[in-house]
Amino acid sequence: KRDEELAAAGQAAITTDGVHIEVVANIGGLEDAQQSVTLGGEGVGLLRSEFLYLERTDAPTEEEQTKIYGDIAKALGTERTLVIRTLDVGGDKPLPYLPMPAEENPFLGVRGIRLCLAAPEILRTQVRGILRAAPYSKLHIMFPMIASLEEVREAKKIVAEERAALGVTADVKVGIMVEVPSTAVMSEIFAREVDFFSIGTNDLTQYTLAMDRGHPKLAKQADALHPGVLRLIAMTVKGAHAHGKWVGVCGGIASDPLAVPVLLGIGVDELSVSVPAIPAIKAMVRKLNKAECQKLATEVLQMGTVAEVRARLSGLVD
Ligand code: PEP
Ligand code: MG
Repeated sequence: KRDEELAAAGQAAITTDGVHIEVVANIGGLEDAQQSVTLGGEGVGLLRSEFLYLERTDAPTEEEQTKIYGDIAKALGTERTLVIRTLDVGGDKPLPYLPMPAEENPFLGVRGIRLCLAAPEILRTQVRGILRAAPYSKLHIMFPMIASLEEVREAKKIVAEERAALGVTADVKVGIMVEVPSTAVMSEIFAREVDFFSIGTNDLTQYTLAMDRGHPKLAKQADALHPGVLRLIAMTVKGAHAHGKWVGVCGGIASDPLAVPVLLGIGVDELSVSVPAIPAIKAMVRKLNKAECQKLATEVLQMGTVAEVRARLSGLVD
């Protein structure tokens, strides 16, 4: 089966009724980018830029960042999308060069975009490094842990200012991660001011169910296929599409073939998956009919428990 999937990896992921679903990669550096291309990835839906910042004593310079983002963009080429997520760290992952007091609840503290807006020079340096990669691929900037429209406006202002200062004229899209339930609920409002959304189901599940995503005793219950989480994904899609904006899923659930039919049925436009999962997810999409998936999603969104959802979906994978 894996051999068949690999042989077809270069072909697009199009449903039996002709809908193209973009299957892209979650990556943590240049090697992953190169491998994603080999395995048929149509681009990168999430570059976790933390890899540049962790395990060092000083912040990465603009030159270092320009080099690495440029190399990754060149590995993908001008026909592929590259979504670079700005620094997403917080009290649980301290950086010696950033003022980060210990917090009682780091997952509810100054993390993600909150931290970057509190230390805007770090963000500005990163944004300049990212913008310089614009000529080499279809560049997208994405902000993590967005919880308010003010954060979006402040972050977009920084991008606009740095863009003007650098004289970057290429089209660079600016989007947000949906990881906080209020952002899913308010997606229609956010959609007026952002170019795209990517749903981080790992954090969205954690914050929706109030269950630590790494808790060993809650691992089974903290499931992104919980009907409450699926309803938030559906809300996000509805709000985004009302304004013609696309929605991806970059949380771990997108890498599970079992979840693909329901995500497609809800109307997700892009699946950003772990590099090794690309061929299997593309193969799954090719087997599906979007109209059938929509019926399935309507049914699943009426269910009350994860167990029911999983039982219904497991009948669809071999
Ligand atoms: C997520 O929260 O689902 C996500 C993709 O981001 P990360 O796993 O890096 O927090
Ligand atoms: Mg996250």
